[in-house]
Amino acid sequence: MFDDGFDGFFNRLVRDRLNKEKAKAPYLARYAEVYRLQERVFLGAHGVMNTSDDPLNQIPEPSFRELVNSIANACSVSQYIDVKPMRIRQLLSEGSCHGPDEALADSCIMLALVPYFHAFRKEVIDAPDSGDACPVCGQKPYLATIDEGGARHLHCWLCGHSWAFPRLTCPNCGNNKQDRLGYFYPPGDRSSRVQVCHECNTYIKTFVFSDAGETFLPLKDLLTIGLDLAAEREGFQKCSQAARTLYFAVFNTTE
Ligand SMILES: [Zn+2]
Ligand SMILES: [Zn+2]
Repeated sequence: MFDDGFDGFFNRLVRDRLNKEKAKAPYLARYAEVYRLQERVFLGAHGVMNTSDDPLNQIPEPSFRELVNSIANACSVSQYIDVKPMRIRQLLSEGSCHGPDEALADSCIMLALVPYFHAFRKEVIDAPDSGDACPVCGQKPYLATIDEGGARHLHCWLCGHSWAFPRLTCPNCGNNKQDRLGYFYPPGDRSSRVQVCHECNTYIKTFVFSDAGETFLPLKDLLTIGLDLAAEREGFQKCSQAARTLYFAVFNTTE
């Protein structure tokens, strides 16, 4: 199904689609460049990462720093970005919790981690197909999809893994009381929705796919950022606090 045979996230279909879309908005042009940089690193790291050690210990510092700087350039982020391992670990466990300047830098770091973790995930042979956190890397899910058979899958922003999860349950707190869960839809599009939980006040963006549409997950996520903003306006927090900062640099409008 995936053209290059490498990955559902990094493949020629997504690249072609991004190249076609990038003239439509500056943020799409920035993301197309970020994606190109990520994909190059993914192809280099593919087959190199091993599962016997923490992926963070295996990321070569000079190449990582270079990728962070290239992403920062592509997004016109001009500040110095500290890539010390302690900061990266804190980012992954707590998300970005500082001001907009830090969020810009954190976003570049997170986008640079993505290809290494994708390469790591490709080496993982059996991960449990359940749970409320990614069975490969431990991150909270950032998106959900419903496949053509009606089954729900959660997706990891960091390593790209997806796993099955009950449809009518909050992936953040496990609440499955139907009167404490809700949905809202963008006008005129029933294929995208936000599931909210009134127990823990988090939300997860959800896409309904009728075919191999998951190929376009990263693009679909970007194009529906309005749903994230609407959920936040209603007082809900993204299920993955880390992923909240993921595209901050891509949407950077300070240039
Ligand atoms: Zn993961
Ligand atoms: Zn909940």
